[in-house]
Amino acid sequence: MRLLIMGPPGAGKGTQATFIAERFGIPAISTGDIFRANVGQGTPLGVEAKRYMDAGEYVPDSVTNNMVRNRIAEPDAAGGFLLDGYPRTLAQVEELDGMLAESDHKLDAVVVLTADSDELVARLLQRAQIEGRADDTEDVIRRRQEVYLAETEPLIAVYDARGLVRAVDGMGEVGEVTQRIAAELDDIDEN
Ligand code: AMP
Repeated sequence: MRLLIMGPPGAGKGTQATFIAERFGIPAISTGDIFRANVGQGTPLGVEAKRYMDAGEYVPDSVTNNMVRNRIAEPDAAGGFLLDGYPRTLAQVEELDGMLAESDHKLDAVVVLTADSDELVARLLQRAQIEGRADDTEDVIRRRQEVYLAETEPLIAVYDARGLVRAVDGMGEVGEVTQRIAAELDDIDEN
């Protein structure tokens, strides 16, 4: 089972990723979480990533692609994984295609969370207060939405053309959204 979860910043990808991963017994791999862990530990990768994250920009593909390649090669991901926050650019889509082809695997589905953008900005500001994320100031939040629209939203059409997209309304209670996703993925075998 190899899944992606996509959607604008603040749509609840991370929360839902955890539920989906549990349901299918696969690791949820969040590039944002890996970057934040590296920032926290002060690794060279963290130092490099932080400059971009704090500005709401994407970390360069050269850094991100290698990180994902290494992570999905780890033993716990041998039976599948759910990627949260990757791919985010067309170049990353191609890179992931290459990684999957090398191991003779393919994606089973791409869950796309849809949400109202005003509501998302409100959610992000609330999260910033709770978690104290350095990349969650109002300007940065706005920049992240812009970058998402320009760089990442076009990827939905790419995966839609491959017949992989499962669009799910991301608004409402967390539990309701989880139910919707579970229903959307009901036909997929746990393999
Ligand atoms: P997230 O937690 O997914 O919102 O990611 C937080 C930040 O990490 C993003 O705003 C980017 O700066 C960086 N990041 C996460 N994933 C990627 C990616 N696939 N490509 C480039 N930058 C990323």
